[in-house]
Amino acid sequence: MAERKAPRRVVVVGAGMLGLATAWHLQQRDIEVVVLDRSGVAAGSSWGNAGWISPGLAIPLAEPSVIKYGLESLLDKNAALYVPFKVDPKLWRFLLGFARRCTMKAWRSTMSHYVPVNRLAVDAYDELAAGGVSGKTHEAPIMAAFLTEAKAAGLVREIDLIHEAGLELDTEVIDGDALRAELPIVSKDVATAIRINGQRYIDPGDYVASLAVAVQDRGGEIHSGASVRALRQGPGGFTVEMYGGEPVRGDAVVIATGSWMPELAKQYGVNVPLRAGRGYSFSVPVSSPVPCPVYFPFERIACTPIGDRLRVAGTMEFRDVDAPLDMGRVDAIVENGRPLLSGVDWNDRHDVWVGGRPVTVDGLPLIGATRNPDVYVAGGHGMWGITLGPLSGKLLAEQIATGVVPDLLRPFDPTR
Ligand SMILES: Cc1cc2nc3c(=O)[nH]c(=O)nc-3n(C[C@H](O)[C@H](O)[C@H](O)COP(=O)(O)OP(=O)(O)OC[C@H]3O[C@@H](n4cnc5c(N)ncnc54)[C@H](O)[C@@H]3O)c2cc1C
Repeated sequence: MAERKAPRRVVVVGAGMLGLATAWHLQQRDIEVVVLDRSGVAAGSSWGNAGWISPGLAIPLAEPSVIKYGLESLLDKNAALYVPFKVDPKLWRFLLGFARRCTMKAWRSTMSHYVPVNRLAVDAYDELAAGGVSGKTHEAPIMAAFLTEAKAAGLVREIDLIHEAGLELDTEVIDGDALRAELPIVSKDVATAIRINGQRYIDPGDYVASLAVAVQDRGGEIHSGASVRALRQGPGGFTVEMYGGEPVRGDAVVIATGSWMPELAKQYGVNVPLRAGRGYSFSVPVSSPVPCPVYFPFERIACTPIGDRLRVAGTMEFRDVDAPLDMGRVDAIVENGRPLLSGVDWNDRHDVWVGGRPVTVDGLPLIGATRNPDVYVAGGHGMWGITLGPLSGKLLAEQIATGVVPDLLRPFDPTR
């Protein structure tokens, strides 16, 4: 194989978890970086997400029960899944493609690609910490709670499948009273819980901001308000053009634009359909400290202690990525959450937020070179970009610097 020269300067488009983790690891390899974001650091889904570093739960979204759930959701205005009733052939093609993969065979195949990366996800955070990134990660179990024992059956089965797939997962069933002894904010109607040990969580906005500071401290440039419209390649490398502002030069480009990725990446042969699976969050005050994240799988609500408040996140809404925030979806989360938590003030909501999970039709991220060997993409992690972001950035930086595709990245080839 002809030896490729590592680029000296790389332009990273997108200052979310994926863009900044890639930038940091490029710097580890002595590559200069310029990060451009049309809004600012953590302006996309890397801000208001649930912040779980939960390799034990990073599993494919598409599985057989999703079809039944999806159909039921169409008739329930408070369902966590929301698909607008409108003529949008691209969206319906995407959903059909997704539905076709809701089989156990597809789940097992996708999961086999997640297992090896999930195993390394937490270490990748420790590596950032050892390298001077000041953002804190908190070790804690995730407590999955249910109103009835019958409702826990789905997760129990999923845990069996995760074990079968080869991922170690340390879990323990506890009853409602034991749960409330640890988490008094959980309502007395909750009957049982599964404690998923060995996970972590972060305040994602703060963490990504600390990653940006680390990149800048090592000489990286980060430009906010830099909306990239085109990449032009000439003999001297790339000129990255923006709507307004001076173009920026680099030897290679990484497109890490989350749910907006197709806008820039499609022309480079990244044709895997990707849509924004929009999620909502807000924070509420709590009557007693919350020591760990709480997950209500049946209601699809994720709660994370952030500062002295609780972030409540949920919903998968397949609207346009830039559609305005729909307060009806927030009300639906509140409605579904009320019977689950008693020690929160649902009316005192702060930081109401919507963000698009970059969901690919086949459930696998897009990480690696495009048809142009100097244009790379990093993204498409759907529900798991926080868990897998640092490791993805590390592996992609290795590929950019060495020209060799790490084995772990092969299933995520963006030109598949
Ligand atoms: C409600 C919710 C809860 C979640 N919870 C978790 C969780 O607990 N754990 C987990 O692992 N994952 C979670 N996720 C998923 C996770 O948030 C995403 O996978 C991850 O943040 C994606 O990061 P990213 O860097 O790819 O994209 P983003 O964070 O969206 O960043 C993309 C950036 O690109 C910029 N951009 C776009 N186009 C351009 C352009 N043309 N020029 C310049 N800049 C541009 C945007 O401004 C944005 O800042 C959750 C998501 C949601 C919505």
